[in-house]
Amino acid sequence: MSRSVLPTCFEISHPGRRGADVPALDVPVREGLLPEEMRDAPPALPELSEVEVVRHYTALTRRNHGVDNGFYPLGSCTMKYNPRMNEEAAAWFGDLHPLADARDVQGALHLCHDLQRALCEVTGMDAMTLQPAAGAHGELTGLMLIRAYHRHNGELAQRRKILVPDSAHGTNPASAVMAGFEVVEVPSAPDGGVDIEALHGLAGPDTAALMLTNPNTLGLFDTRIETIAEIVHGAGGLLYYDGANLNAVMGIVRPGDTGFDVVHLNLHKTFSTPHGGGGPGAGPVGCKARLAPFLPTPVVVKTETGYALDSDRPLSIGKVKAFYGNFGVCVKAYAYILSLGGKGLREASEAAVLNANYIMHRLRDTYEIRFHRPCMHEFVLSTENIPGLTATDVAKGLIDRGIHPPTIYFPLIVHEAMMVEPTESEAPETLDAFCEAMLELAGEPPEKLAAYPQTTPVGRPDQTLAARKPKVVG
Ligand SMILES: *Cc1c(COP(=O)(O)O)cnc(C)c1O
Repeated sequence: MSRSVLPTCFEISHPGRRGADVPALDVPVREGLLPEEMRDAPPALPELSEVEVVRHYTALTRRNHGVDNGFYPLGSCTMKYNPRMNEEAAAWFGDLHPLADARDVQGALHLCHDLQRALCEVTGMDAMTLQPAAGAHGELTGLMLIRAYHRHNGELAQRRKILVPDSAHGTNPASAVMAGFEVVEVPSAPDGGVDIEALHGLAGPDTAALMLTNPNTLGLFDTRIETIAEIVHGAGGLLYYDGANLNAVMGIVRPGDTGFDVVHLNLHKTFSTPHGGGGPGAGPVGCKARLAPFLPTPVVVKTETGYALDSDRPLSIGKVKAFYGNFGVCVKAYAYILSLGGKGLREASEAAVLNANYIMHRLRDTYEIRFHRPCMHEFVLSTENIPGLTATDVAKGLIDRGIHPPTIYFPLIVHEAMMVEPTESEAPETLDAFCEAMLELAGEPPEKLAAYPQTTPVGRPDQTLAARKPKVVG
């Protein structure tokens, strides 16, 4: 890679050049459009030959960093390697039409039904919907279930508050507000878990639910989860499980067994759908039996004559997604679960946890790691103990070494945070190369650090300006 900026496809356009010939019009031209409905000039589309288009996009992909080109330890996002076999399985269903009659797509409905059962088994839930399109959408759906539940019990007017720990992902409070609740922040204890005393003081007759990620965004498993559940349930509230970190505990701990009533999963983090480019994801939501009547419609059910889509559910919160969710993502998850089996899922979690602990131990004498206990599938370090070194410097230095930076400046409660998630599929040499790059960067002089990155088309842009006023066309 070099500093040069690629020309846009508009800049390499030549009038009249084309990659395909459209057949001549063989239907009558429709007359009668008003002049103001007509274009004054043809649309300003780039005109390129096929090979130019292919080269343009191939050049762009080479400027991107993905799991297929190198290590991608982006904490909380779980950029894990997704076996190609699952992509192939999704492609087998590529011809299905979402409006097809349920009788003609029995195989697809069978798959949805089995996947729901498998996800219930992994999470310890009684019922599951596959419809939500992503984790945040799952949160909204789950909170709507909680709302419907309290309304059904005549308690909604009183239960207005959702408790959210200060270590939570930003989507948690955002979803709570979108679902019509007020957010109350719960502080963390010195060991990184929920502050039990504070929770005691905050949980009460106005509590609708507590949203918790366990292990949390510090990569720590909250061992007081049963006490937490007792406090919240004791106050009449429900427990919502943010499943983005399920990677650490598959086949080991089930959220449903530790007191959670509602969970969402991020199939694109845990069950083999690539993400990061904004492609479709899926955020299935599971719940305990007492919340099942409120699940969104349609629900895939098994009847005596086969599988069916049931929309006759008077207590349902209604539809949350067009058709049946992102079905292709569900196929990948199903293929992943079947190919690994229960034992394989557990091994994936164990390897993810082992890899994170290995890196943490190699870096702990150099970087600050606030919590002195084993981590789960990810951990948070800080550069604050090294004078003059920022998380940004380390991130930019890693880019020049061909490594995607860990998540930086999150969670917000750790200054100069770097959140490292190696995932289960990396070889020891890759983990070692990352550790060596991290150790090397910690000892470099400030002038050298300030000059990173040198291998990317742009150096260090003004991040606010780049986000607010992106320059997308050259
Ligand atoms: C990623 C993430 C979410 C949101 O999930 P999306 O699928 O990106 O909408 C919520 N909580 C945590 C802890 C996450 O890491």
